Amino acid sequence: MKVIDILNNGKVNVSCELFPPKQFTQLTGAKQIVREVAALDPSFISVTYGAGGGTSDHTVDLVRAAEENGVTALAHLTCYSSAREKVLNVIEALKKNRIENILALRGDRASDAPLGEFRHASELMELIASQGDFCVGGACYPECHPESRSLAADLDGLKRKVASGCRFFTTQMFFDNAVFYKFAYHLRSAGIHVPLVAGVMPVTQSSQIERIVKLSGCGIPLELTAICDRFADDPAAMKQAGIAFATNQIIDLVASGVNNIHIYTMNKPDIARAIMNNLSDIIGKQGTNV
Ligand SMILES: Cc1cc2nc3c(=O)[nH]c(=O)nc-3n(C[C@H](O)[C@H](O)[C@H](O)COP(=O)(O)OP(=O)(O)OC[C@H]3O[C@@H](n4cnc5c(N)ncnc54)[C@H](O)[C@@H]3O)c2cc1C
Repeated sequence: MKVIDILNNGKVNVSCELFPPKQFTQLTGAKQIVREVAALDPSFISVTYGAGGGTSDHTVDLVRAAEENGVTALAHLTCYSSAREKVLNVIEALKKNRIENILALRGDRASDAPLGEFRHASELMELIASQGDFCVGGACYPECHPESRSLAADLDGLKRKVASGCRFFTTQMFFDNAVFYKFAYHLRSAGIHVPLVAGVMPVTQSSQIERIVKLSGCGIPLELTAICDRFADDPAAMKQAGIAFATNQIIDLVASGVNNIHIYTMNKPDIARAIMNNLSDIIGKQGTNV
């Protein structure tokens, strides 16, 4: 099934994100995680792709595992450090495995990796469009991509993605819903009307915060800082509070007319399960999407 048809179904959809193992020996364990997450019946499962391309084979393995477990799969694919031939091989492998959905990203360049032939995700989107009938999505950033000069430049980049075949956007994580609502307003005002999927990251270990801020640059509201400070030395309490914070964030989004939610599950089925259980009477409900 195409992800765009799920996003446009008028219901509250919750999808989950997983990442592939670095080594072949860890593949069996990773497939077990896919099975456990698939059992939660998410709208779709997305699987990330290493920027250096090192885990590309396992991305294909895991999206195939998701489909084998009856869940629509979305394969991430990056291009920044890759040769065109390598990218074409992955697209071919996805086609062979009947994977219909690709989240096309630029990726980040490891300092020692050579620069590939692609400069931006939109170039990858054009290539994918020429290779078959894929449903292609892209990334967007409620707090602007760190390299963007301005909000206007950021929105221009997103318009280029749509012109290159991008049919939906998944957001970078954010912890303050007001930031998301403002961004959605700017997006729609700029004439970008493809579905917007809100990316929610459950913070269940206080040590995650520093890494998140360093990698994504997103703002941390006082409520979440207080949770991390209060429960830093109590892992069980931190996990419970982090699940509650993410659940509340999702409930506020849905109440405000956001139907499509993506949980950055970080290969932790128990956390995904807890959040999905908290939302059991909300997921799948019909409602107007903003
Ligand atoms: C939902 C999501 C999933 C992700 N999954 C992965 C993953 O699986 N693997 C991974 O390695 N990384 C992943 N990332 C991280 C992502 O690769 C990085 O954030 C990267 O820095 C930017 O990727 P992009 O696709 O947004 O790039 P681009 O769209 O190329 O944008 C990068 C910058 O260039 C600007 N820009 C865009 N197009 C143009 C243009 N034509 N001319 C000039 N400037 C332009 C943009 O405004 C932005 O400032 C993910 C990010 C998100 C939000």
